Amino acid sequence: MMKLKLHWQILIAMGLAVAVGILFQALYKGEPSGAIFSIITAFGTIFIRLLKMVIVPLIFSSIVSGVASVGEGKSIGRLGVKTFLYYFVSSILAISIGLTLTNILQPGVGADIPVGHDFSVENMKNPQSPGELLINMIPLNPIEAAASGQMLGIIFFSIFLGAAITRVTPDSRKFLQNIFKSFFEVMMKITEYIIKLAPLGVFGLITKTVSTAGIGLFKTVSLYMFTILAGFLIHMFVALPILYYLTTRLNPIYHFKAMISAMVTAFSTCSSNATLPVTMSNVEKKAGVSNTISSFVLPMGATVNMDGTALYECAGVIFISQVLGMKLTLAQQFIIALTALLSAIGAAGIPAAGVVVIFIVTQAVGFKESDIAAIIGVMLAVDRPIDMFRTTVNIFSDSMGAVIVAKSEGEKDFYKEIKSQRK
Ligand code: ASP
Repeated sequence: MMKLKLHWQILIAMGLAVAVGILFQALYKGEPSGAIFSIITAFGTIFIRLLKMVIVPLIFSSIVSGVASVGEGKSIGRLGVKTFLYYFVSSILAISIGLTLTNILQPGVGADIPVGHDFSVENMKNPQSPGELLINMIPLNPIEAAASGQMLGIIFFSIFLGAAITRVTPDSRKFLQNIFKSFFEVMMKITEYIIKLAPLGVFGLITKTVSTAGIGLFKTVSLYMFTILAGFLIHMFVALPILYYLTTRLNPIYHFKAMISAMVTAFSTCSSNATLPVTMSNVEKKAGVSNTISSFVLPMGATVNMDGTALYECAGVIFISQVLGMKLTLAQQFIIALTALLSAIGAAGIPAAGVVVIFIVTQAVGFKESDIAAIIGVMLAVDRPIDMFRTTVNIFSDSMGAVIVAKSEGEKDFYKEIKSQRK
């Protein structure tokens, strides 16, 4: 019965979920309820809770044991430089694609956006400024950071701890390296068990989305959605694979195959953080990247490197200006691109984070909140499907970065399992 490969099980679950979702949508007119519906959606919630349960201990043990095994303090610095260089280049590529497409397709020009949408700006969280973000990376109390899930704080402390372990006496170093390595192995085991439940979880999540999302608004903003989705596709299937091939000389198709479960998980959870355990497992087990590199590039990438979100911020704000009938100067577009990059760094790897930080970008070009509230309200209404693709692009870029950095560090033998299946 369970012979079918996991990613096939997940894809089948997705297809079934769409069908069941449409059925519920038709039966309940967009407000589904009832025992069967709540049981189905509970699968999704349970799956997400399980993933979240393992995130903090997994990231912590993974980074500490990864960094502690890098050894020389010098090479940690080198890894860091390469990693951030990749984050930067890939995000700039994404932003350029967003900028170009919105200028060519002009999705906002003449768009009929209903005003008076009940949407309140005050209800949205105030986004962090880049300066605050830097300061908040340093946790006041690492235990509190872990308890409240402050990713950057946890990452900062873990890297520090891992690096310090390499600098103590050989006895203590070996002892601590072993402890953290064993702890990490156990966390990976737990993750593996959770991932086996992915088909059920994905079924619950997608059924819920399809059955509750109304399709009326989708039509009004279809060109907006088309523009952004086209941008995602170009970035993921053209720009990133070219960058990947140029830097590694490896076949990008293998990488797509290796990342299927992570991509589907990102697609259905809309959260880079929740997907992180699956991303790490795919990058290490399927792509063949060492834990040292994957635990360095991926957890940080899930919060910092968000290509899909960066593209969305940029394209979204230009869309807003088009709806308002404003012509942006080149200088203004440049400011938008820059703030899009920073706000994508600041966005958390959780659902809808991208819409929350779009305010940073709109403020940078001086839009008044009262003018844009209705438009952002509509963008929010159709955000879920966009978020699904956005998150998939986000984690896909992180995973390519892990292979690129690993290759540049002299690692070999990538995609062994996938290559052997082809023979
Ligand atoms: N949901 C995205 C993520 O977790 C963030 C966003 O909303 O753009 O990667």
